[in-house]
Amino acid sequence: MRARLIKSREIGPEVRHFVFDVPATERLEYTPGQFVSFSQDILGRTVTRAYSIASAPAGSHFELCLNRVKDGAFSPWLFEMQPGDTVEMQGPLGYFVPRSPFRDSVLVATGTGIAPFRSYLQWLPIVHGESTITLLFGARYREGLVYRSEFEQLERTRPGFRFVPTITRPPTDWQGRTGWIQQHLDDALAGRLDVDVYICGLKAMVDDVRDILKRKGFARQQIIYEKYD
Ligand SMILES: Cc1cc2nc3c(=O)[nH]c(=O)nc-3n(C[C@H](O)[C@H](O)[C@H](O)COP(=O)(O)OP(=O)(O)OC[C@H]3O[C@@H](n4cnc5c(N)ncnc54)[C@H](O)[C@@H]3O)c2cc1C
Repeated sequence: MRARLIKSREIGPEVRHFVFDVPATERLEYTPGQFVSFSQDILGRTVTRAYSIASAPAGSHFELCLNRVKDGAFSPWLFEMQPGDTVEMQGPLGYFVPRSPFRDSVLVATGTGIAPFRSYLQWLPIVHGESTITLLFGARYREGLVYRSEFEQLERTRPGFRFVPTITRPPTDWQGRTGWIQQHLDDALAGRLDVDVYICGLKAMVDDVRDILKRKGFARQQIIYEKYD
């Protein structure tokens, strides 16, 4: 299947939001948390990379949240795509999906690791569910807290949802949390050991958070994670 770029826009430092669709004859069936696999011939070799879908299922269109990796083999190519351009795609794939039944949960993301959680949080069974959900989201800069206004809006409208953003390089007028997400895990957990914790981002962060949770006594089945590298 080929995915066609509808539009893209910059939403943070070196981060873009992409809207794709698949041909009218296809319907993209997926569960929030799944990813697509893109392939492209670049400089004579086929490069394949996975990208978490950042939107809830909506027929033929889907959204991605991509980071441009400096000197990366594939992401700079994706950043050059223009509306109408297409890319070979496989999927949806993967098992990083909300557990069923969905229990009270803490979602932990850094950077573009937010993508699958944006999909979770747009999904009707979660939006209209009764579980308590805390989203702990870390970025380097304030502008890297992509989709922040959406999560703040959800916090105002969805009972039981709490948004806990933190940045490591705060500007002088920042009054929110600062530092690594690891420093705010206790706040996000609010003393509870009976929640599921979903973690998404680069390996170093995911492994670190998993270690902290295991030391706190969390069982393996309570820790669900996706590593980007
Ligand atoms: C299941 C899965 C889902 C993914 N979903 C997303 C997504 O939604 N958005 C996204 O931007 N990436 C996502 N990735 C990462 C993506 O597949 C690529 O690894 C990334 O685009 C870099 O590819 P590249 O060819 O440009 O870099 P490469 O030439 O492969 O260079 C790899 C380097 O990039 C670093 N890297 C990988 N991903 C990131 C990232 N997101 N931010 C910063 N550094 C990174 C690695 O640590 C490594 O040092 C996902 C990966 C997996 C396995």
